[in-house]
Amino acid sequence: MNKAYKFRIYPNLAQRILFGKTFGCCRFIYNKMLSEKIAYYKETEKTLNITPAKYKADFEWLKEVDSLALCNEQLNLDKAYKNFFRDKKVGFPKFKNKKNDRKSYTTNCVNNNIRIDGKFLVLPKIGKLRIKQHRNIPSGYILKSVTVSQNASGKYYASVLYEYNEDIQPEKASNVLGLDFSMSELYIDSNGEHADYPRYYRRALEKLGRMQRALSKMVKYSNNYYKQRRKIAKFHERIANQRKDFLHKHSRQITNAVSCVAIEDLNMKAMQKSLNFGKSVNDNAWGMFTSFLTYKLAEQGKQLIKVDKWFPSSKTCSVCGAKKDELLLSECVYVCDCGNVMNRDVNAAINIKNEAIRILAAD
Ligand SMILES: [Zn+2]
Repeated sequence: MNKAYKFRIYPNLAQRILFGKTFGCCRFIYNKMLSEKIAYYKETEKTLNITPAKYKADFEWLKEVDSLALCNEQLNLDKAYKNFFRDKKVGFPKFKNKKNDRKSYTTNCVNNNIRIDGKFLVLPKIGKLRIKQHRNIPSGYILKSVTVSQNASGKYYASVLYEYNEDIQPEKASNVLGLDFSMSELYIDSNGEHADYPRYYRRALEKLGRMQRALSKMVKYSNNYYKQRRKIAKFHERIANQRKDFLHKHSRQITNAVSCVAIEDLNMKAMQKSLNFGKSVNDNAWGMFTSFLTYKLAEQGKQLIKVDKWFPSSKTCSVCGAKKDELLLSECVYVCDCGNVMNRDVNAAINIKNEAIRILAAD
């Protein structure tokens, strides 16, 4: 199994320059290989296999940077080709652009050339640089690769990938929690707890909107314009981090508390299109949340069960099983002839839980 840890790194001036060169060389080699492949195909209708090594004679400066980073660009390009041939909808590989593409490169660990040494990370060509390691790596984890990246506000990060061998015992699903997706609060669970997706986040997005409108009125490429752009990037990063913290905290609490989680298999893309709910869905917090839940549960040998999206979780009474023909979105309380009066979302979450228990029993 693999696990990645992302740490902030603090390169000095020389290292920052070399990072910049490496990002540039990776982009260069990627585009060079892509254009030669296209030209070769036009001529022969065959696919050309090339490696970055052949360019080093013509472009001496490529030797300055980490050669494994360049090799990884070849793998990236091969992957982009494969994806395209598997599914044409993905689109043909595009040329990389200095402005739009993420500044990053990946290098691999060979013969201990990469390691974390106390407060320092050692990288090929770069040498020792300061790292803020905010969590410990369990013993037995083997360092496989590092992806260095620079974000829009100028900060540098190292995403360190480890491989580990762990025999995870599957846990018996004795304690199931159902989660009903909620537009405003992220989810409501079958015990009646609300996630309370923070309102500050919505407010922060409104502020971000105002900042972006102010930017659009500024004289392009003026000092103020760049200043505002940096401000926006910083603010953006802050709210993204807050959201991530919130989602990590909640998925961790749930994972530790129960042995199985049941959710509806919602197709977020379709939802975003058919219902115009705005920001609270568009930020895709639910997608991120379920991916955090998935791996956290898997690490502990616990299960995530996805209930079919056509399962009538809202219309069914969670006490007697009766099913209503219609339930308006405006009806916040579920009222049944059997005497059940319940919050609509809690009723749905209990149904999702019961459906998961039924699926588990049928297995
Ligand atoms: Zn009922």
